[in-house]
Amino acid sequence: MTAAPRKRVLILPGDGIGPEILAQTRRVVDWFVARRALPADLYEEPFGIPAYRAHGSFLRDETWDEIEAADAILFGAIGSPEYDTIPGAAEGAGLMRMRTELGLFINLRPVRAAAPLHAVSPLKAEVLRQTDLVIVRELTGGIYTGKPRGIETVDGVRRGVNTMIYSEPEIERITRAAFDLARTRRKRVCSVDKSNVLEVSRLWREVVQRLRDTAYSDVELTHLFVDNAAMQLVRAPAQFDVLLTENLFGDILSDIGAAAAGSIGMLPSASMTGMDADGPARHRALYEPIHGSAPDIAGKGIANPCGAILSFAMCLRHSFLRPDDAALLEAATIATIENGARTADIARPGQPTLSTAEMGSAILRELDAMADGWPAAARA
Ligand code: NAD
Repeated sequence: MTAAPRKRVLILPGDGIGPEILAQTRRVVDWFVARRALPADLYEEPFGIPAYRAHGSFLRDETWDEIEAADAILFGAIGSPEYDTIPGAAEGAGLMRMRTELGLFINLRPVRAAAPLHAVSPLKAEVLRQTDLVIVRELTGGIYTGKPRGIETVDGVRRGVNTMIYSEPEIERITRAAFDLARTRRKRVCSVDKSNVLEVSRLWREVVQRLRDTAYSDVELTHLFVDNAAMQLVRAPAQFDVLLTENLFGDILSDIGAAAAGSIGMLPSASMTGMDADGPARHRALYEPIHGSAPDIAGKGIANPCGAILSFAMCLRHSFLRPDDAALLEAATIATIENGARTADIARPGQPTLSTAEMGSAILRELDAMADGWPAAARA
C-alpha cells in the first residue's frame, strides 16, 4: 500500500478565545500524528489582533501564502472590541477574504444533542431526543457579500445599504451539496427561505425544487419560511435531517441549533468547495467552531474547546478521508462529557468545572483509553 500524501494543516488561532481553544486542538492533532500516523505537517500563523500586535497587519502576505499553501485550515475565531480603536480596521475582513477567495461556499454545521448534555440545554430532553441534523449554509454569497453596500448620505439623511443577491448557479451548487449530503444520511432536505417576501428567496425556492425534481427525486424535499424554521428548531429539532439555507439565515439558525446542543461551545463546522467524495481532500477546506471570539470570557482559560476539537474531527473525515479517526475523536469527546467532564458553559449549577486545558487533557486521556480497541485508521 502506498503511503497517503502528507497534508499541510495550518492553525490560525485568531482573536479572543481562539488561541485558547486552538492550543487544545493542536494537542489533539499531535496525538493523531503520533498515535494514528496521521500524515499531517502542522504550521501556525497569528491572525487578527495578535498578528497586528506582532507585525502591524491583521493578515500579512506571509500568512496569506501559508493559507494558499494549506490543505486544511484550523481556524479559531475573529472579533475583538480592539478593532474599533484601530483606524481602518475591519473586524471580519480576513475571515471573509478566506471564505470568498478560497471559494469555500459550502458550510456544514452538524447539530447533535448528545444525551449527557440534555440537562444543560434550555430545551426539554424529550424535545432533544434523536436530534441529529446538519445545517448546510451557503457561505460566500447573499447579503454578506452583495453589492451595493455601505453607509451613505442621501439628501442629508444617513442610511445603510446591503444587498441580498444570489444567482441561479450559486443556488444550484449549494443545493447539490445539500442533496448529496442527504443521500449519505436520511435523504431528507428542508430548504429555508423567505419567499413570501423576498424575490431572492422566490428564485431560491424555484431552483431548489427544480433540481430536486430533475436530479434528486430520491430525496424528500420540504420548504419552510425562515421564521417558521426558527420556531421548529426549538419546538421539534429532531424532525430535521439536512437544513439547506442561505448565508444570513444559516448564521442565525445555527446559533439556535446551539441551544439544542447545550452550548455554542460544542458546535463544529467545515467550510469547503465541493461535496464530492474526495472534494475537500483535493481542495482546501477550513474548519472552525461556529462560535465567535467570546470577548467576555477570553483570557480566563474557561472556554469550551469541544467545538474546535470536533471541527478537527470534521477535518479528519473530509480532508484526510479518515472516517474511523473522525469517529474515534467524536466518541472520545462525547465519552469525556459522559464521564462528567464539564467546562463552565456545559455544567449544571454546582457541578465542578474544568479549565479549557483540563478539558483538552480529559479528551486526550479518553483517546488514549479508546485507541487500543479502535480499528486501524483506514488510509485514503
Ligand atoms: P460569541 O459566539 O463569541 O459568544 C456568544 C456567547 O457564547 C458568549 O457569552 C460567549 O462567552 C459564549 N461562548 C462562545 N464560545 C464559547 C466557548 N467555546 N465556550 C464557552 N462559551 C462560549 O458571539 P458574540 O458575543 O456575538 O461575538 C463576539 C465576537 O465574535 C464579535 O466580535 C463577533 O463579530 C465575533 N464572531 C466571530 C465569528 C467567527 O470568527 N467565525 C463568529 C461569530 C461571532
